[in-house]
Amino acid sequence: MTDLAPRLDAAVAAGFEAQLAFLERLVAIPSVRGAERPAQEIFAEACRARGLDTTVAPIDLDAIREHPGFSPVVVDYSDALTIIARHAPTRTTGRSLVLNGHMDVVPAGPEKFWNSPPFEPRREGDWLYGRGAGDMKAGLGMTLAALDALAACGLRPAAPVTIQAVVEEESTGNGALDAALRSGPADAVVIPEPMDEKLVRANLGVLWFRLRVRGEPVHARDAGAGANAIEAAFRLIAALRAHEARLNDGPRHPAFEGAPHPINLNPGRIEGGDWPSSVPAWCAVDCRLSFFPGTPAAEAAAEVERVVAEAAAADPYLAAHPPEIDWTGFFAEGYHQPPGSDAEAALARAHETAFGAPMGEMLMNGYLDARVHRLYQDAPTLCWGPLAENIHGYDERVNLPSLRRCTHALALFIAEWCGVEPAAQRADA
Ligand code: ZN
Repeated sequence: MTDLAPRLDAAVAAGFEAQLAFLERLVAIPSVRGAERPAQEIFAEACRARGLDTTVAPIDLDAIREHPGFSPVVVDYSDALTIIARHAPTRTTGRSLVLNGHMDVVPAGPEKFWNSPPFEPRREGDWLYGRGAGDMKAGLGMTLAALDALAACGLRPAAPVTIQAVVEEESTGNGALDAALRSGPADAVVIPEPMDEKLVRANLGVLWFRLRVRGEPVHARDAGAGANAIEAAFRLIAALRAHEARLNDGPRHPAFEGAPHPINLNPGRIEGGDWPSSVPAWCAVDCRLSFFPGTPAAEAAAEVERVVAEAAAADPYLAAHPPEIDWTGFFAEGYHQPPGSDAEAALARAHETAFGAPMGEMLMNGYLDARVHRLYQDAPTLCWGPLAENIHGYDERVNLPSLRRCTHALALFIAEWCGVEPAAQRADA
């Protein structure tokens, strides 16, 4: 391995321009929810070009609907593709590996607030800008680049390696669930999310829901005779804020002891009313709320329903017009990746070789697809990846020296975890 490290480093450096060109192709495609297909097809083609046994299929709703990790779906999945690309060694001598990443990106927001268009990748200095550059097309491309670096050294993994390129990571996690069930368990999973070169030790569960409130529409001149649905929704949001505070103040998963305000409620989208001079007859608020690992999603959701029902019961208008809650996406439990796994030790060694510094760890206050493999396949699941900034914000960017070192580390990790065999043994070579 000591001899391999500099060779892989040189191979990653030699291939880095091609790696970035591929990343730019992916970033140029606005693969927001429902529009991921062209980017997924490019990725599948890149997998096939490397001789990986590649299948492309829409998320199989029937296969995941009854699974405890399933999240409710409010969109059509016919274009929501899961890509599974498999490497099979001539002879398995090492441990199997899944490399997972997501192709979906969150909306760019108002483009005028970006310094350059979000879907026109731009390199400046040590950074590559664009929506999805960090979260997480850099990581997804890195999976192939790491295998390329091994190939450039005349090597390939001596164990099954499955690359899963999924969608729906930013809304439900159903893509990862679909991919995991199709692929089956592996001895370890690496998900190169933009984690600032740190390993995620634990992450929170996340719920998405829509509050629907009815009002009593009257002319605004008689507003006192009606009931304002938008204002009623604000009262429910206040009750949920109090619930958020209780969650932060109450018993915590030990991993989150001492974390400042880990639980966040986000009323993220609101619509309601029809006319400035009509008291609004309706309001809908899309909310996101996190919760500690160890709590099943159904339990966290029942709490939300109880909080809303109690707030409504104490409200003169809402008591007579109870609000409704629709579950519209994430219904996902959090996870904790216990320290001490062989996989983590191997990644830490690879990281230290590539970076010349130990691998740090972090807590993640948001959703990660890693929960699928951790909770439902009992695999050591290592979510770790390059430095990125402004993910989900304006001027998202990924750091290129960091990406190069992470690619080197991932190639080293694959070599140690899976073992290597000569690439020339390949049947189709
Ligand atoms: Zn991500």
